[in-house]
Amino acid sequence: NTAQPRKRLVIGNWKMHGNQAANASLLDGLCAGFPAVRACDLAVCVPFPYLGQAGASLQGSGISWGAQDVSKHEQGAYTGEVSAAMLADFSCSWVLVGHSERRSIHGESDQLVADKAQAALAAGLTPVVCVGETLEQNEAGTTDEVIARQLAPVLALGAAALEKIVIAYEPVWAIGTGRTATPEQAQQVHAAIRARLDGSVAAKVRILYGGSVKAANAASLFTMPDIDGALVGGAALMAEEFLRIAAA
Ligand code: PGA
Repeated sequence: NTAQPRKRLVIGNWKMHGNQAANASLLDGLCAGFPAVRACDLAVCVPFPYLGQAGASLQGSGISWGAQDVSKHEQGAYTGEVSAAMLADFSCSWVLVGHSERRSIHGESDQLVADKAQAALAAGLTPVVCVGETLEQNEAGTTDEVIARQLAPVLALGAAALEKIVIAYEPVWAIGTGRTATPEQAQQVHAAIRARLDGSVAAKVRILYGGSVKAANAASLFTMPDIDGALVGGAALMAEEFLRIAAA
């Protein structure tokens, strides 16, 4: 797509999977295969304990890495929390915020997600702000409304912040279900999200699609003008499959 002004970005979300041995072979596979598909930015978001391993393996490969969550606090008495500065200390480029599993299982509010995005930006990381509607909300026709509500406190961070973030649209009903939004369905929501951003920011912000992305459906999603890449869960745990998505 020659009209595409934004560099494509494919991010793997490992979720709570992996161990040092399995990670080593996955990371080696990615390093070995990436030179052939360098057309996009490629990244993996790994569990906290494996950030060092990811960094050591991916250093110099052109593949970047990040985490799946971050504290909104800078430092202090917050047992169990991990700060953005700690992620920066491990040379993370990215951090997911507001993944639907964090919103639903851990009750993260829209404001907390925006606060986490702001903490990430302050430490020089790029937050990948995840939004998306549930099946019930989709069927009730409230998708745009739900996403507007989720984005509102993020938009309030202002243009200077917004141009540095990535947004991921992940319909909850498509995550891990094998049921992908059609390219047209996703495009419609992506365009609506972009329309909520101010002109110059809108042109710059990458909006990723997530939810059962595989090599077999990636290419058709990526033909859409407002889909700038993908946030990939299950298919990111297999080096070949993940690289095929990047190649698409
Ligand atoms: P999935 O997960 O690709 O396994 O559907 C995507 C995500 O939750 O980020």
